[in-house]
Formats: sequence, structure tokens, C-alpha cells
Amino acid sequence: MATLQDFAVDVRPTWCPGCGDYGIWNALKRAFVQAGFDPEDIMMVTGVGCGSKMNDYMRIGGLHTLHGRSLAVATGFLLANTGRKVITVHGDGDGYGEGGNHFLHTVRRNMGFVDLVENNQVYGLTRGQVSPTSRAGFRSSTSPSGALDRPINPLALALSQGATFVARGLSLDLPQLQYLITEALGHRGYALIDVLQVCVSYNRAMSYDWYRERAYKVEEEEGYDSSDQAVAMAKALEYPGDGRIPTGILYRTEDVPAYEEGIAALSAGPLVEQPLRTRPIEDYEELVREHM
Ligand code: SF4
Repeated sequence: MATLQDFAVDVRPTWCPGCGDYGIWNALKRAFVQAGFDPEDIMMVTGVGCGSKMNDYMRIGGLHTLHGRSLAVATGFLLANTGRKVITVHGDGDGYGEGGNHFLHTVRRNMGFVDLVENNQVYGLTRGQVSPTSRAGFRSSTSPSGALDRPINPLALALSQGATFVARGLSLDLPQLQYLITEALGHRGYALIDVLQVCVSYNRAMSYDWYRERAYKVEEEEGYDSSDQAVAMAKALEYPGDGRIPTGILYRTEDVPAYEEGIAALSAGPLVEQPLRTRPIEDYEELVREHM
């Protein structure tokens, strides 16, 4: 069985001291160990952003993609190789902004991978522009008078499109985040974990204390039923808002097949392990003639 040391690399992260990415980094490695994965079992697909450097800092399979394209590339990778555990890790701008369209379609397909979104509510790598999850009134280099747009609610959006696993974590709560990732890794279909992450350089108002004062765990509420979609939606709508922030697994069902389960060609095993079937060269020549 793999240990934390097996996931270690001799590369130091370049994140700012105090960045929430450190907590996410640690929780990911611990969850991989807890879930019983070896480094070669994992394929982490990332986009562009501070936290998208995540796969540089651990010994696993990694793919860096274009900005906002993590989910599309992860979909392609998973369909080619269902033998690997796929996880996407990217920021809120990458996931809900540039990749917003991919987000909707990945949810409705119920692709069988984990999607961890580092939601610091600002573009950090490019020095603090307003992002799709920034609060209205948020002052940034691109919204000096305060953002006019209202923020996206990713959990409510995912639920409205039929998401089968919807969770929120905090970068400052490592045990809870480890638990959420471990559970998501065992989920049958698409598992969204929106992680509220502290950006100490460009979103100082939403500090560690700011989150501590507002966050609570839904599982600590008496009678909370994470299999009830309507209850989950009501929780999801609490934040963004001015009140408390629900965290934990808001909704989960294992009753919906993952997209790849419905693909007949995969019943014989991962595509990459199936023999390559080639057709005679005359077939291709005929095809070329048809289109000339
Ligand atoms: Fe982290 Fe923000 Fe620094 Fe990026 S800019 S490394 S998100 S603290």
C-alpha cells in the first residue's frame, strides 16, 4: 500500500506563503493514500492558474491543459483509459469561467471523475482580476469601483443539471477536505468538490478567520439528509450570501450510471488495453477519393 512519501516529489511549490493551495495539496495526497491508490493509478488534469500547478508537486500522472479545458481533456482521457482514476484540479476562473460550458455538460453526462475546484473567488496567477465567483462589489484590478456582476453559484448550478455528488470544502479544514476527496474518489459518477480557498495576496478580505466565522458542516445538523435533492438545493442557495456557509457533502446519489458505463466498446476493458484494429489501406484510399 502506498504511503504519503510515495506521492512526494523533490519540487517546492511556488505558491505564496499562506496560500490555501497548501492545504488542498496535503488533503489530496492524504486522500489518495486513504483511498488505497498508488501514484500510477492517478491522472490529474489541470488547467491554468496557481492551483493548476498541483500536478507538478506530487508523483502522479499529470496533464496540463489550456485555460478552461480541463474537463474536456479529462473526459477524453477517461474514455480512452477507464483504468486510471481521473481527477481535475483547477481554479474558479478556469472551472466556472473559461470552462463554464464544459462544466454544464460534464455534470449532465455524469462523467466518472472527481472535479476539485479551488474557489478563491479571484484570478490569482494573473494578479487579482475579478472572477466568476467574486462577490458583487468586490474591488480588484479589473473592478476598481466594485464588481457589478453577481457571482455564480456553482453548487446550485450543478444540482440543477442533475449532479450526483456535490460537496463543499474549505482549504483550512484539512481533515474534512481529506474526507470529501476520499468519498468523491469512490463515487460512481461526476463528483464536484468546490473548495473555498484563501488567497492571501488578492482576496485578503476573505481570510482564514472570515471563513471560520461563517462555515458550518451540514452533517452536524440534526436529520440532514444528503440524498434529498431539494434539501441540498436549499443549502446550496445559502452561499454566496451574507450568512453562513454550508460545507460537507450536500448531495449524493449512487443510483445514476456514469457516462462511460453506457459505452458498449468499453465493456471489453479500457480502450488503451484493447487490440488496435486496423482496416485495409484500400478503405482509406476509397474514403479520400470520396472527399476529393
Ligand atoms: Fe495562492 Fe493567491 Fe498567491 Fe495564487 S496569488 S499562490 S492563489 S495566495
